[in-house]
Amino acid sequence: MSDPLGDFAAAIALDPVADEAPREGEPGGPSCHYCQVSDTEALWANPHWRALPRHWSPLPGGVLLVSTAHVDTLAQLPPERQAEFGPIAAAIETAIMALGAAARVHLYRWGDGRAHFHVHFIGRPAGRPQFAGRNLPFFEDRLPHPDDDELAGTATALAHHLAAATCPTSPADEKAP
Ligand SMILES: [Zn+2]
Repeated sequence: MSDPLGDFAAAIALDPVADEAPREGEPGGPSCHYCQVSDTEALWANPHWRALPRHWSPLPGGVLLVSTAHVDTLAQLPPERQAEFGPIAAAIETAIMALGAAARVHLYRWGDGRAHFHVHFIGRPAGRPQFAGRNLPFFEDRLPHPDDDELAGTATALAHHLAAATCPTSPADEKAP
């Protein structure tokens, strides 16, 4: 019987199957960076979520949405947080599109590096269909980095758009004075 996966492995030299190494924030792994982040680093925050600038990326206007709770997956968050995720994601998408440089907004959720729930929001540059789909993360590693002033200006504009958005607050927040 033929073995399509075996043929594929031979063609691209797959590494042997190995044990998964502990990720950051898992027992046996390094301490969790996202548990050390503060609201002062965020473009927008509420008591349960932080929208952080993807300042390490050469693609301006990217956002990383991170839960304040140290949980691995969306499924591990309580239903109230899960319900907030959609409206916050919509607000981030709207804010990135309002910058005027993206054709659409990609969302990536990998979780291979850190065991703390986070989702990447990246504007796919308008007029660059070469970057479409799964090509964008590969090009991201190869693009020249803009200067810090440009990234800071974009982050300021994003924060402005997010502040104007109708991001949800939790029921506890709505009761607060
Ligand atoms: Zn964490």
